[in-house]
Parts: sequence; structure tokens; C-alpha cells
Amino acid sequence: MKTIHDFPRIPLGLTPTPLHRLDNLSRALGKNIWIKRDDMTGVGLGGNKVRKLEFLLADARRQGADVVFTTGGAQSNHAMLTAACCNKLGMKAVLLLKARGVTERKGNLILDHLLGCDAQFIDTDSYDDIYAEMHRQGARLEARGHRPYYIPVGGSTALGAFGYIAAMEEAYGQAEAAGVRFDHTVCVCGSGGTTAGVALGTLFHSPGTRVTAVAVDSDPFEEITRRLMEEALALLERQDAIPEDLLTIRYHVGAGYGIAGREDTEAVKTMARLEGIFLDPVYTGKAFACFLEEVRQGAFPGENILFLHSGGAGGLFAVELPE
Ligand SMILES: *Cc1c(COP(=O)(O)O)cnc(C)c1O
Repeated sequence: MKTIHDFPRIPLGLTPTPLHRLDNLSRALGKNIWIKRDDMTGVGLGGNKVRKLEFLLADARRQGADVVFTTGGAQSNHAMLTAACCNKLGMKAVLLLKARGVTERKGNLILDHLLGCDAQFIDTDSYDDIYAEMHRQGARLEARGHRPYYIPVGGSTALGAFGYIAAMEEAYGQAEAAGVRFDHTVCVCGSGGTTAGVALGTLFHSPGTRVTAVAVDSDPFEEITRRLMEEALALLERQDAIPEDLLTIRYHVGAGYGIAGREDTEAVKTMARLEGIFLDPVYTGKAFACFLEEVRQGAFPGENILFLHSGGAGGLFAVELPE
């Protein structure tokens, strides 16, 4: 049996990120609600992808890579943070972005421009088309003596998920030091890697705590996250059974990925007005909207809840929050 600490990892984030109680929100909802501030991971505008990239870019470096390809939507936080982390490591980032959503130079596209990466739009609805293009461009670079490394959308591989096993080890350690034990942990599910890591990290470091992941896209995340968890367990040479009640996935897609609804605006405002913390329109605002809706319906009977803030600030300056 291994642990994630047996795998190569480049420290990129400024960790530990804070874990603290949300006093006003707790009072308003009659629950004990804490937040893990992975919007403050210390690269770019912060966000969850930094922790995944610590493992992914260590693997890239181990393979001698000098060019890193990745993909996402036009406003991808993951792509922007890949470019930012590559800059720190002296690697070149090539972002093949889906020409969908907000493609003007707003939000993360401003940051991509400032970071100086090679950001290209690909006019397709399918990531398979983009992966094919990635490998075509990578092969051309290889012929010129470069070594490309390919990161799939969201960095959601088993190795990427290790970043969130690490995050939860950190978070539950902080909770123990603060004298709180969480009944529920709530996170966002966009491509699945974070959720898989949060679920396994919870199983390893806070058994009995349940995880609710709010899906903001309509992919089959039960299967995707289970496969990622199984692959991560295999890398760790562990045989843990995954308890049936460890992970619940709730879909809150609304009009579509990257399109916020009025209830999402309300949720972003609630967090801003009660706690002075900005959620984002694409991920965390939707997760929090779903959480608030479930609380209203009497869910989360457990008293102690941890909300994972996974970042996304760039989206606030690109994606509309409808009034
Ligand atoms: C990518 C992202 C997520 C979702 O993480 P996945 O590992 O892709 O499921 C959540 N929040 C923010 C802000 C993100 O950028």
C-alpha cells in the first residue's frame, strides 16, 4: 500500500489554505457551516486546479516534458491555471479551448493573454476532436525535438484526483485541530477529478463523513467518479471498498454548463452579503445554490458541514449572473 506522498509532486500552491467557520451563514441557516478556502491556493486567482497540477506537472517533468497541452471551455479556470503553473516551472502551455461560451477577451481569456500562453480556439462540441488536434500538434513539436505532455479537460485523471486527497487530508487535519468533525462535505463536480479526490480523501481521513458533489454539467458523473476512484485506489495499491453512502451526486446544471440562473445569482449574493466571499457563476455559485435549496428542503440533518470553495473568480468577469 502506498500514499499520495510516495508520488512525485511539485509544490505550487500556498498551502495549507484557510479553513474557517462561516458565522453569519451558520446563524442564518441554523447549521454549523465551515469553508475550505481553495479559492486561495496562491497561483493566478486561486482555485482547485493548482492542487491537481502539483501531481500532473510533476509527472510531466519526470517525463522530461517542455510543452504542456490542455483543454477546456473558452473560460476554463483549469486552462488558465495550467498556463500560470507552467510559467512558474518554465514550461510552455498550449491551450486548445472549445470555441463555446464567452469567447471575447473577458475573464480568464484576459488572464490567458497576460500569462502569454498559446491559447487557440477549436470550433467543436467534442473533446475527442480537441484531443486529436492536440496529438497532431504534439507530434509536430516532437519532430522538432520537443517533449509534449497532455492533460485532459479539468486535469481529471487519477493522478489529478490525488490533489484532492491531499486537500482533504489537510482540511480534516485542520478540522481536528479546531475541534470540529464534519457530517457532510459539499463540493462541485465539473469533470469529476475533484469529487473523486474529495470522496477518497474523506474515506481515508474522515471516515463516516458523507460527500455531496453538485454536478454543473450533465455527464454521467456516478460512473466517471467511480472509475477515477478505482484508478486512484489501484495506483495507491489499496483495496478499500467504496461505501455506497460515501458520495451523492446532485445535478444542478440549469440552462447548461457555464450558464447561470437566477437562483445562482441569489446564492452568489448570499455568500457575498453574509460573508464577504465571492463564489463564481459557473461552479461554486451553482453548488451553493443547490446546497441552499437542499437545506430549505430539510437536507443535511447533520450539524457540521464543510463547503469546499474551489475558486473560479475569473468567471465573475465574463459570465453573466442574471437578476
Ligand atoms: C474545475 C472547477 C471545478 C470542478 O472540478 P473538477 O475536478 O473538474 O470536477 C470546481 N470549481 C471550479 C472553480 C473549477 O474551476
